Amino acid sequence: MPRIAVLDKDRCKPDDCRLLCMRVCPKVKTGDEAIIIDEETGKPVISELLCSGCGICVKKCPFNAISIINLPEEIGEPVHQYGINGFRIYSLPTPKNAVVGIVGSNGIGKTTVLKILAGELKPNLGSNAEWSEILERFRGNEIQNYLEKLASGEVKAVYKPQYVESIPRYVEGTVRNVLEERDESGRLENIVEALDMDSCMGKDVNSLSGGELQKMAIAACLIREGDVYLLDEPSSYLDVSERLNVARAVRELSGSNVFVIEHDLVVVDYLSDYVHIIYGKPGAYGIVSNIKGVRVGINEYLSGYLKSENVRFREELSFSVATPSEISKRSELVKYPPLEKKYPGFDLRVDEGVLYKLEVVGVLGPNATGKTTFVKMLADVIKPDNREIGCNLNVSYKPQYIKPSAETVRCLKLKTCVIKKLGLAHLLESRLDELSGGELQRVAVADCLSRNADLYLLDEPSAYLDVEERLRLAKYLRRFSEDNKSSVLVVDHDILLIDYLSDRLMVFSGESGRHGRASESLSLRDGMNLFLKEMNVSFRRDLDSGRPRANKPNSIKDREQKKKGEYYYTR
Ligand code: ADP
Ligand code: ADP
Ligand code: SF4
Ligand code: SF4
Repeated sequence: MPRIAVLDKDRCKPDDCRLLCMRVCPKVKTGDEAIIIDEETGKPVISELLCSGCGICVKKCPFNAISIINLPEEIGEPVHQYGINGFRIYSLPTPKNAVVGIVGSNGIGKTTVLKILAGELKPNLGSNAEWSEILERFRGNEIQNYLEKLASGEVKAVYKPQYVESIPRYVEGTVRNVLEERDESGRLENIVEALDMDSCMGKDVNSLSGGELQKMAIAACLIREGDVYLLDEPSSYLDVSERLNVARAVRELSGSNVFVIEHDLVVVDYLSDYVHIIYGKPGAYGIVSNIKGVRVGINEYLSGYLKSENVRFREELSFSVATPSEISKRSELVKYPPLEKKYPGFDLRVDEGVLYKLEVVGVLGPNATGKTTFVKMLADVIKPDNREIGCNLNVSYKPQYIKPSAETVRCLKLKTCVIKKLGLAHLLESRLDELSGGELQRVAVADCLSRNADLYLLDEPSAYLDVEERLRLAKYLRRFSEDNKSSVLVVDHDILLIDYLSDRLMVFSGESGRHGRASESLSLRDGMNLFLKEMNVSFRRDLDSGRPRANKPNSIKDREQKKKGEYYYTR
């Protein structure tokens, strides 16, 4: 059985632990060089041949930097490995002249495979392979032709990077300038309309919100002519209708090779023809599954079992719709009258309503329609224009955008139970500005939940979290509200997450930055119906997994459901 040893070089701090792994390794003690020191970096190098796999160093390393894993024989050699004791990826996705979704945890190798397909990273087969060896390895495979083209530099790849926040650092001018320069296909005007970008075309790139940057980056990708289009997490910062617009625009390219990495499963489902699942151990190794039809693939991903491979890669991510607790048994946290608030150019109206203790309320609605303003009124940070509420709740708030400082996670004084539940123990010594997007998000959520409050507001906690982290967070938030006898309001645009965590739902509507209107908190069914009617999209439930799936526009189901006014919950 091949054994791999992977060292996370960012986490490894030999000066702090005085090379504990070497000191505890039984093989080193008896004179074998199972672990030696790299003279250049001062960090350990683990020999996969000499290591016996006892796992003592893995347990003892104070920074969780080592993984020792036995893999099945059939796995063969990796397609690519980042150096000695580095992460490795086995097999590659298949280009299909269709839209192929790629799902998997953070750190499992999704970006690595996109880089290989883009020709940015030459696969090294674990060491230093030449193209001739790579082509030999994939002879007779569906991907052989594609790799031949990559080897001869004939593939033109168009890439939408994951992190859009950094775009203003290397792109200047107005959105229109930026996009016109890149319009190779003449599709610009169509795409501007499809993504509803009219209002931001004249803005300077420096002044864009996260959502506007995301749409510009996607448009810049879709207007180019390429052999392959690679989109890394296109839905971050976008609200539900924007996500669906993007999905429809991407589908227009469905005759080309399109790969999309995405953690919003409703979006993956809506835009893809096929999916690949990447499984393994984050940070250590990833295996790309066979290509699967989109419905079956997503269900297998949630179930943790790949049928054609006969592989169980984790326990099922159980997916059950929340059974709303009986409201009559709950005590009120706050009862508020109809509220109004005006800012220059913006007005908000909130229907009167009640929030109960011990409940999680999902909040759906476009960006900039007054969700934060509403919560600030409850917290008495700002006064409504029409009357006093006088409830003076203690509120803890996680904003949508998180600016990391240079201090360490430990400085935030997170509560021990929250650290444990959100799996952050290994990050305590890390600096906030060195965390990955998903890590920073979990730390920001933990920071919000570690304060004492009556009401917690989490604004888009799913951004940069993978599917597993999203569903685990949902489960934890439900537990948290019960244990802390508090209420949690979660604003998010991932419908699957909202469906999974909400006892009830508030729906904000209106026009971003101009008018906002908030409903009282409704049952999940009524809230979803109200929201989806506004979006003009109907959803059904998957018969096998129970997850929500968007109906294709104008399909028989779509027409039937809309006629009945059943935008949601219909089986
Ligand atoms: P994902 O896109 O699924 O989050 P990535 O492909 O970005 O995963 O990364 C997979 C693993 O490879 C991570 O552990 C990452 O730290 C490691 N990795 C990525 N790029 C490099 C690199 N250039 N050198 C060494 N390790 C890398
Ligand atoms: P959301 O939380 O739904 O994204 P917000 O409540 O943050 O929306 O903001 C709604 C609108 O009110 C936005 O257009 C925002 O620019 C505006 N706004 C919020 N606070 C102020 C303020 N203090 N002064 C002027 N305008 C504001
Ligand atoms: Fe220390 Fe862990 Fe690095 Fe070994 S792997 S040197 S125990 S931090
Ligand atoms: Fe040494 Fe055991 Fe670690 Fe292998 S797993 S390097 S034998 S301590």
